[in-house]
Amino acid sequence: MHEMSLCEGILQILEDQAAAQQYDKVKTVWLEIGALAGVEIQAMEFSFDVVCRGTLAEGSRLEIIQLPANAWCLQCDTSVDISERHQPCPRCGGYQLHVSGGDEMRIKELEVE
Ligand SMILES: [Zn+2]
Repeated sequence: MHEMSLCEGILQILEDQAAAQQYDKVKTVWLEIGALAGVEIQAMEFSFDVVCRGTLAEGSRLEIIQLPANAWCLQCDTSVDISERHQPCPRCGGYQLHVSGGDEMRIKELEVE
């Protein structure tokens, strides 16, 4: 389950930020996850709880914002939203898509004390 190591990465960022921004408790984390990141939301929420136990983020809320992925369709000559990697173009049904994003994950905002 790679969500566990993703959450450890997030916690690392929270702890680094705590020193830099001088907070000692995290209340809410808003996390943006692209549709193609291959992250399971439920597994992510579960892992986050486990990883944060006994840390400055214990009991904090994880708010996940799912972002649609973007692709450029050569046939339509326009940009379209897709939800998985090998999906046809939602406009023309063609497969000539250049995926240009959607596998990113980043902390958008933090609520801290
Ligand atoms: Zn198309």
